[in-house]
Amino acid sequence: MYSLAIHGGAGTIRRETMTPAIEAGFHAGLRTALLAGHAVLARGGSAMDAVTAAVMALEDDPQFNAGRGAVYTSAGTHEMDAAVMDGRDRAAGAVAGILGPLHPVLAARAVMEHSEHVLLIGPGALAFCRANGVEFTNAAHFHTERRWQALQAELARRTAAAADTRSDADRHGTVGAVACDAAGNLAAATSTGGMTGKLPGRVGDSPVIGAGTWADNATCAISATGHGEFFIRHAVAHEIASRMRFLGEGVAEAAEKVVAELGALGGSGGLIAVDAAGNVALPFNCDGMYRGRIGADGRALTAIYREAPAAHG
Ligand code: ASP
Repeated sequence: MYSLAIHGGAGTIRRETMTPAIEAGFHAGLRTALLAGHAVLARGGSAMDAVTAAVMALEDDPQFNAGRGAVYTSAGTHEMDAAVMDGRDRAAGAVAGILGPLHPVLAARAVMEHSEHVLLIGPGALAFCRANGVEFTNAAHFHTERRWQALQAELARRTAAAADTRSDADRHGTVGAVACDAAGNLAAATSTGGMTGKLPGRVGDSPVIGAGTWADNATCAISATGHGEFFIRHAVAHEIASRMRFLGEGVAEAAEKVVAELGALGGSGGLIAVDAAGNVALPFNCDGMYRGRIGADGRALTAIYREAPAAHG
């Protein structure tokens, strides 16, 4: 049974500032991405193509911190990270610190498909993308006023040495997708602008295989979101796969345990996971996580806070 899950970042707008219109916008954005991925799976496409299609849709949507709508570094620039992994053979590709490719997830896919490497960064990654036909756009495409203002507020806070009272949503965000296709193959894709006000050169967990992105048919596919430094130090995605392999835990049990453990250590965030039977888990340890799932019945179920995913629209 095929299934697909997506996230649009852990750490949601606080309930006090959420309006019905903003909420509806997030549900609609998630739904569009779910349907894009589902269309691939429904015509017998691969999990890899499905997660790529879903993440491209989320990168195009300025509500989410990836592609258009990415957050700014402390220098007022954009540096994006992305990764893909194929559960059939653990093939993987990733990019970090890039600005230019319209869809960073396609840059990651190009690394997987056209190079002998797993992770390319900065100027070298961009040169590789140009040589391999990845579509570029101008820097203005990625700008959003909301992210620019979030950076200005953060820089002012640092100057004043004031306490950090931002919501998780103002700090970070990411998009991701995991899928199990009709053949039982798994894939994962993750794409992010990283964390608001990050130092130029900082790389988060998203493009680090085994931290923010993972896929292995024998266990699960995972795309994580949250405070990346914690996810790297705890090798979160690989830790979940290891629990499944060595302890025999199911995907939901393993994912929930690791996310709870991380939360207890101060690492806010969550993740989406799927196993080769199509079982999905969407755990998080903060207020909310933009998320959704869809199966063979084609019903797009989405959620933002603690509620169970439901049909919206
Ligand atoms: N994990 C991302 C990073 O640290 C941010 C996020 O998912 O919210 O770059």
